[in-house]
Amino acid sequence: MSEPTSIALVTGGNRGIGLAIARALKADGHRVVITYRTGTPPEGFDAVQMDVTVTASVETAFEKIEKEIGIPEIIVANAGMTKDTLVMRMSDEDFESVINANLTGAFRVSKRATKGLLKLKRGRLIFIGSVVGGVGAAGQVNYSASKSGLVGMARSFARELGSRGITANVIAPGFVETDMTATLDEKRRGDIAAQVPLGRFCSAEEIADVVSFIASPRASYITGAIIPVDGGLGMGH
Ligand code: NDP
Repeated sequence: MSEPTSIALVTGGNRGIGLAIARALKADGHRVVITYRTGTPPEGFDAVQMDVTVTASVETAFEKIEKEIGIPEIIVANAGMTKDTLVMRMSDEDFESVINANLTGAFRVSKRATKGLLKLKRGRLIFIGSVVGGVGAAGQVNYSASKSGLVGMARSFARELGSRGITANVIAPGFVETDMTATLDEKRRGDIAAQVPLGRFCSAEEIADVVSFIASPRASYITGAIIPVDGGLGMGH
């Protein structure tokens, strides 16, 4: 079970959903470390540079965190990207680069984090999936494959590490207002919102609230679960 003031690590915590998660976990009293890949990290958090597609970068970041701050106990694998295109135009590189960042990246981070969690004999692995991992999406063969891959991975972590007091869950957002969805034109946004039973996009804070709960002792008996936060779009998938 995670302690009220644990060290939390949020990958891609410099903007979007990751930043909202970092703020929520900080408000819960945790010491939050965010990772950023590019630019300057926002103030108010410990920050380390990390590219989740590079194993050495993940290793270097963890060594720095463990030396200077301590062992992260709440791990939020949030960093992710899209490279949308219709399947007939999708190159191997389009497919593999998204899998590498979203799925293998989450594996690199959670595998490295597990080393510390096994010492602590407690912890939370929280993977940010997507509604499209359950229901698919035209133009997102690469992205939806990466997100459904997180489900099998999280459930395997849950089985392998449950006896050590470590939980692993996937939070599956629907469409959230961030840079990732800012590229959608007005018509597409309207079409998407019309398919969502709650009739609107989600805020990053609504995702962060659920992460905050899963990271807390109140969620100590939840593992191997997919928690949808999608306004009903996926109807539980
Ligand atoms: P943004 O595009 O706003 O932010 C993406 C974050 O991921 C940035 O912090 C970015 O860092 C980081 N990132 C991307 N690639 C790498 C990499 N190789 N190494 C390290 N960090 C990387 O996205 P969102 O906030 O919208 O998305 C966050 C997560 O939520 C993603 O996993 C996404 O798939 C998921 N999600 C988003 C939804 C949405 O509607 N927005 C819906 C469902 C799921 P940098 O700033 O350096 O580029």
